[in-house]
Amino acid sequence: MTGQVHDALGHEARGMPRSEAEIVELLRHARLRPTRQRLALGALLFTDHGRHVTAELLHAEAVAGGERVSLATVYNTLHQFRRAGLVRELAIDGTRTYFDTNTSNHSHFYVEQDGKLMDIPEGSIRVDGLPKPPEGMRISHVDVVVRLVAAPRD
Ligand SMILES: [Zn+2]
Repeated sequence: MTGQVHDALGHEARGMPRSEAEIVELLRHARLRPTRQRLALGALLFTDHGRHVTAELLHAEAVAGGERVSLATVYNTLHQFRRAGLVRELAIDGTRTYFDTNTSNHSHFYVEQDGKLMDIPEGSIRVDGLPKPPEGMRISHVDVVVRLVAAPRD
């Protein structure tokens, strides 16, 4: 994903929502019953842009959109989506768990100051000199977190 757009609050643009029929199809394909709450959360998550959300952020968006849903339900739904392969869970700094709608193996920029994650375009990072895995193990994949801070202006 390239060309991040930010709104006035500095949030990652959500992109165009998919139609309800598409969300229903996505859930059915993942063998999840399209309940009203799954549809509401799915509509926020599954847009034409990849999204990286915490349960807290998604909960705030759902409430702002008029959905009566508890943080616990949002959390449970995100984990149902994860088990169904619709989102990937990313633990970045041990305190915050992100859910990524891009489920492919990819690396991220992380803006520490505001806890924002962005995809690093595929092919723009190369990892050299990987350690030899222990006996009986193989490397599945490497995901890199490149941490960003604001550059001083000159
Ligand atoms: Zn990502």
